[in-house]
Amino acid sequence: MKFNAIIVALMVTSLSCAATEPALHWGYEGENNPENWGHLSPEFSTCETGKNQSPINIEHVFKTHHDKLKLTFKLSKQEIINNGHTIQVNVNDGNTLEIDNELFTLQQFHFHTPSENKIKGKYFPMEAHFVYKNKNGDLTVVALMFNKGKPNPELAKAWQQMPEDEGSTATLSQSVDIKALLPNRLDFYRFSGSLTTPPCTEGVRWIVLEQESSASAEQIEKFHSIMHHNNNRPTQPLNGRVIVD
Ligand SMILES: [Zn+2]
Repeated sequence: MKFNAIIVALMVTSLSCAATEPALHWGYEGENNPENWGHLSPEFSTCETGKNQSPINIEHVFKTHHDKLKLTFKLSKQEIINNGHTIQVNVNDGNTLEIDNELFTLQQFHFHTPSENKIKGKYFPMEAHFVYKNKNGDLTVVALMFNKGKPNPELAKAWQQMPEDEGSTATLSQSVDIKALLPNRLDFYRFSGSLTTPPCTEGVRWIVLEQESSASAEQIEKFHSIMHHNNNRPTQPLNGRVIVD
């Protein structure tokens, strides 16, 4: 009896560890690098087995006459967070995207260096992801590339309060004007993909803007040095997916 009780206690302990630990353990370097994400936890298996994974190389595109992007913006309080994987700015409600006759609301935007998606085989020095969600919890990510050039005054508002330590946050004293951060022209590529971080969930609508914004070498380097390393997942196979332009 006593022995059985110990076995049960051990099983319960190991189960509870399995349920709580995995989310902490992925990264971009060492044994937790992107090639291994799918093996780090059963919850991350889509990173390995998924057939519609992001990011991708945007190479062969189908020209269509799709609608313009329908975006609205609202300046309000923003919070900047260093979550150890990226620098993320959480936003309040009021920034929307309408696509496929569905309304999506911006939750947050964050950054990768170098870029995750490639356009015609080319990496950009930095990429921002604007993560929108509809009422069903479906996601649309709008991706913006940065080239190295003039300092970006909107990025500067966030960068001056970029938290250096993992887990730390700050309320931006000047909110980033997202409309001003985006290029004037909003041509885009569209395809179906996934989260680019574990659990690599699929069914994400991807909108990659064709025009870039600019950031200075110093701005890109500041982000990279606070991350300590690249934070871009390698491009994934298309597996027959179609990219429309
Ligand atoms: Zn991202």
